[in-house]
Amino acid sequence: MPSEFALIDRFFRRPVHHTILGVGDDGALLRPAPGMELAISTDMLVAGTHFLPDTDPEALGWKTLAVNVSDLAAMGAQPRWALLALALPEVDEAWLAAFARGLFDCADTFGIDLIGGDTTRGPLNLCVTLCGEVPAGQALRRSGARPGDDVWVSGQPGRASLGLACLQGRARLAPAYEADCLAALHRPQPRVALGLALRGLASAAIDISDGLLADLGHILEQSGVSATLHLACMPGAALAACADAQLARDCLLAGGDDYELLFTAPPTKRESIEAAGSAMGIGLIRIGEIGGAGAGSLVLLDARGQSLAPGRRGYDHFSGEREAGSALGVIAAGAADESR
Ligand code: ADP
Ligand code: MG
Repeated sequence: MPSEFALIDRFFRRPVHHTILGVGDDGALLRPAPGMELAISTDMLVAGTHFLPDTDPEALGWKTLAVNVSDLAAMGAQPRWALLALALPEVDEAWLAAFARGLFDCADTFGIDLIGGDTTRGPLNLCVTLCGEVPAGQALRRSGARPGDDVWVSGQPGRASLGLACLQGRARLAPAYEADCLAALHRPQPRVALGLALRGLASAAIDISDGLLADLGHILEQSGVSATLHLACMPGAALAACADAQLARDCLLAGGDDYELLFTAPPTKRESIEAAGSAMGIGLIRIGEIGGAGAGSLVLLDARGQSLAPGRRGYDHFSGEREAGSALGVIAAGAADESR
């Protein structure tokens, strides 16, 4: 069996492009460009909680890095340097080779150097720490939404959790839509270019990892504002193809794992935002407005302007919301039940 060091050399040591010193020493050495702040984020994927244990390792490699890339996209930062901490139950070289292929595919797509990590034996657990650069003072935060701002969303949130519902036999879709939803689940496309374009336009931003309503809730709480959302404005060709309208709505509003961006911006920025979206070929839709009174509160209106009970907002690992429609929630609910 290869040693830990041989494994690192074989699977995770690659030439670096914008790093002084990468894998192999006690630490890495970085040099941020002048005038830049460092944005840094970490995310852990645990087998049984965040992914099904038989998930294709190449897709998992992509997703392990992509979920972190999405956090930096939501900050308006350019991802640059990643650290990878791995716990592996055993050394399965074919699995590691596929995992590394997916991970480096994502790293190459977004111009990221893998600069270090840690490798140990244990229950399968994948943790990436990602560092990026953003011009000083320009990072997008959750706390900047103001009354009168529009609420925007990119792409079609809900596809990943609908894909998971298909895998679990809870939904049926035409093959083309099913393939689209499974791609959203397995190979999320973090919105880095959009995050960069939104610097100076968006007042607040977050990536949708836990569910649209739950993640908007974080913006509302941190900004001290309320919001009204219009269900009729929400995007969703794939969701419309699902015969179970309640499931489709749950996926849209409470499904996580899509890694679309949810952001707010003053109405004066509408034209610039629409121009940025068309230049990148990304659908950007206004789904509501920010209000003042009732900080943190959220009103959801149907097509006739009637208020709907939002129901579940998304998944929280510790609140015990087991019935959540989010991809994370459904897997976590199963994992938690098994452990009792
Ligand atoms: P130390 O014992 O000094 O912490 P390690 O033996 O853990 O060093 O790691 C040796 C080198 O390999 C370090 O540069 C570390 O960052 C890197 N490394 C370890 N595991 C990984 C991994 N999974 N991916 C990338 N680099 C790794
Ligand atoms: Mg170490």
